[in-house]
Amino acid sequence: MNLRVYYISSTIISVILLSTLVLVQVIAQPSEYCYQSENMSLSHANLYANDVSLPFRFPVDNITQDQLSGAVFASYGYSSASFDSKQYHVAEDYHKPAGSPVYAMADGIVSFSGPRGGYGWLVIIDHPALNLYSLYGHLSPSRWYIESGQVQKGQLIAYLGDPDENGGSKENPLVPHLHFGIRSGQRADYPSMGEWRWTAGWIKYCPQDLGWLQPSKIICSQEIPDSGFHNPKVNFLAVWWQEILFSALILIAAISALFSTIRKGYSFLVAGYSILFPIVTWYIFNRGLVVSYALIALYAIFIIIQMGKFIRRKQISKANASDE
Ligand SMILES: [Zn+2]
Repeated sequence: MNLRVYYISSTIISVILLSTLVLVQVIAQPSEYCYQSENMSLSHANLYANDVSLPFRFPVDNITQDQLSGAVFASYGYSSASFDSKQYHVAEDYHKPAGSPVYAMADGIVSFSGPRGGYGWLVIIDHPALNLYSLYGHLSPSRWYIESGQVQKGQLIAYLGDPDENGGSKENPLVPHLHFGIRSGQRADYPSMGEWRWTAGWIKYCPQDLGWLQPSKIICSQEIPDSGFHNPKVNFLAVWWQEILFSALILIAAISALFSTIRKGYSFLVAGYSILFPIVTWYIFNRGLVVSYALIALYAIFIIIQMGKFIRRKQISKANASDE
């Protein structure tokens, strides 16, 4: 293939792939049928906390209606940071001062306790008997926190963080509050990274599709279905098809670029691909897709071959120069 044809066609492929990326984001906006959360009465909150025979309690003391905001699924959030902006808040925010104690909402096992981006310190508790997990964000890394082990309903797990350590910073402090989410299944059911896989503060998919439940509704009902809460019956392809399609396209492009690198002699090959690969791989990696490891491996091979060719060219031109 002539170099110019190759260069033009790889540019076209890059443009198609990047437009696909944008399109995927536009198509994957939340569906309209997602229902909103209900306003629950919190008047019995202290009763739930004190009655040991009840399965659930609120994770903070003396929660009142005016301290609860950002009710789960209540509205879209618009972040100006990206075109991937229309999202649901999949938790309730309980506004309490920094240093307020935070408790396990039910019996369970701590499955995660660590720093996590905008969450500051994050704790996740699996409740296998109920088939739920609960998530507690914006905790304090500088105070005591639980690291692992079994917990009982009402057991202290951490304290709320100060504005500059709860996911906020000195420059951008975050008002102290607990970001509290409940989801069906266990954390391990939603593996890998990515904001909506298991940590999710905001997601673009319909939250019910992914098993997110309204925390105050679960707690106020105090009811456990006979065989625990059911995993969402979401169709695998319905959730993943854009990412699968997109990954496949990128993978095909990566493999063909690799083959061209091996087969062709010196070419500009892929100044374009060299730039596209890391960007797209980073994107896919952030979505928590396993295919990103294959892409990284392909890219590494690609770079090694390119370096090898570069060194050989240097040697040849050196040899030619000494011949003259
Ligand atoms: Zn929140």
